[in-house]
Amino acid sequence: MKKRVILRFKRNTIDKPIVYRLVKDYDLTFNILRANISPKAESMMVMEIEGEEANFTKGMEYLQEAKIGIEPIEQDISRDEERCVHCGLCTSVCATEALDINRETMRVNFDYEKCVACELCVRVCPVKAMHVSFT
Ligand code: SF4
Ligand code: SF4
Repeated sequence: MKKRVILRFKRNTIDKPIVYRLVKDYDLTFNILRANISPKAESMMVMEIEGEEANFTKGMEYLQEAKIGIEPIEQDISRDEERCVHCGLCTSVCATEALDINRETMRVNFDYEKCVACELCVRVCPVKAMHVSFT
């Protein structure tokens, strides 16, 4: 299985070798999509983690025991469906095609599983429908 998650580190957990442990102990592979590291405050990483489901579960349990916050990516990235007017502007900047126009319906689909949290859509959306709320 492959899943994108947001990991949050407090000041006292930022120095834990979590990537090493995920690879070595749980045979998981990962891709860091985004990271905001601040040694004096809370840090975050958006990671795509891949491996056997049982290993993934154990790896997440390890992170929880290590007091590292885990959030599904959809929790912090969303589109306000009331605001979106399906103008398609965001699809021109979304490199991963998480935002993609359906040519039959002319509506813009949002697939958060493809999103890498680059925030480019947030900047171009004229009605401020896209929200990326990482702190
Ligand atoms: S730019 Fe904004 S309004 Fe236009 S399709 Fe994208 S999210 Fe919707
Ligand atoms: S944050 Fe980036 S990857 Fe995600 S939907 Fe917006 S433009 Fe696409």
